[in-house]
Amino acid sequence: MATSTQIPDAVQYELTLGSLTAQLDAYQKVVEVATGKRDAALRDLRTHCRHLHLIELELGPPHRMCTVCGAEERGWAYGYHVLVMQGDMGNPPYKQDRVLVERTTDSHYFYGRRLNRPIFGVGQSHPDFPGAGLRTYEQLTRVTGE
Ligand SMILES: [Zn+2]
Repeated sequence: MATSTQIPDAVQYELTLGSLTAQLDAYQKVVEVATGKRDAALRDLRTHCRHLHLIELELGPPHRMCTVCGAEERGWAYGYHVLVMQGDMGNPPYKQDRVLVERTTDSHYFYGRRLNRPIFGVGQSHPDFPGAGLRTYEQLTRVTGE
């Protein structure tokens, strides 16, 4: 009776799959740790950013976005509450320091500035905005989620 040291195809197949799924599990853990670190850094950036350099979409409802941290606000109806610049109503902090670094009518380009980061709505685009400016600047720039 001959004995074989060759691993049967079915067993080799299972070993290969097991190895590949173990690799995927290990990489998934690396991605989760890196994503957590990225999100923490993004929260820190968004907490400290004064949103001084803005891009504005000149198409449809008024829309501005901070080019540094991605904070964005639609300016329709009640107007801007956080991303306010000279010439706008209201007097939130840093109004005089804000500059419009770019205007575009290309919505694909404008929304591309989000850089695959979670959306960060401020002012009347903040989830806590109740309407008619009944919240403070700090409340309307509070970082949520991620
Ligand atoms: Zn910002």
